[in-house]
Amino acid sequence: MTGFAPELFLEAVDDEFICSICFAVFNHPVTCQDGHSFCKECITKWQLNNTRCPVDRSNLRGLLVRNLAVEGAIAKRRVKCTSTIARPGGCHWTGPLSSLESHLPCCDMKVVECKFKGRGCILRAYQHELAQHLLTCPHRTVKCSYCTFEIPHSELSAHNELCVAKLVTCPNNCGVQVERYMIVWYLFNV
Ligand SMILES: [Zn+2]
Ligand SMILES: [Zn+2]
Ligand SMILES: [Zn+2]
Ligand SMILES: [Zn+2]
Ligand SMILES: [Zn+2]
Repeated sequence: MTGFAPELFLEAVDDEFICSICFAVFNHPVTCQDGHSFCKECITKWQLNNTRCPVDRSNLRGLLVRNLAVEGAIAKRRVKCTSTIARPGGCHWTGPLSSLESHLPCCDMKVVECKFKGRGCILRAYQHELAQHLLTCPHRTVKCSYCTFEIPHSELSAHNELCVAKLVTCPNNCGVQVERYMIVWYLFNV
C-alpha cells in the first residue's frame, strides 16, 4: 500500500511526513543514505525504473533503511476511517492510525456480499445494510408453514405446489380442508 490520504488525519500532518512520490502520508517509511524518506512500496516501484533518489537525483547506494521514528510518530496520529473518503459522514470511527487496520473488517461502511451469494444473490451493500437485506433477500431460507422444511424463499411457490403437508380442499367437494398426503393415501387405498 502506498501512502495514507492526508485528509484522513484529524490534525494536519507536517510536510516532513509526506512522501515525495505519492504525495500522501508515509506508509512503512524507509530512508535513503541521504536521509530522504519514502513509502516502502513507492520507492520499491520507483527503483524498478530508476537508480537515483527522487528528491536530489543522487545515486541510491545500498539498502533503504526502515524509519521507525517516523513510522511510530505517524502511527500515533488520529485518523478517520478510510471509507469516509468514498462516503463522507458514513463511518464515525476515529482512532490512532495503528488501529485502522483492525477497524476495517468490522466497519459499517465495508462493502459486503450477501451470504446467499451461492444461491444466486448478486447484492453488494454496506455492512450496516446487510441485516435488513437478509430479512427480504429472495434467496433467504424460509420455513414451509405446512411441512416446516427449510427452503430458499425463491423456491417457496414451486414447493407449495408439491408440499405433501399443504392443506387442500377435499376432491369430493365435502368442503373439508385436508393435508395433500391424505388425498394421495386415499387414492391409493380406497
Ligand atoms: Zn508514498
Ligand atoms: Zn535521497
Ligand atoms: Zn469505518
Ligand atoms: Zn441476498
Ligand atoms: Zn412444505
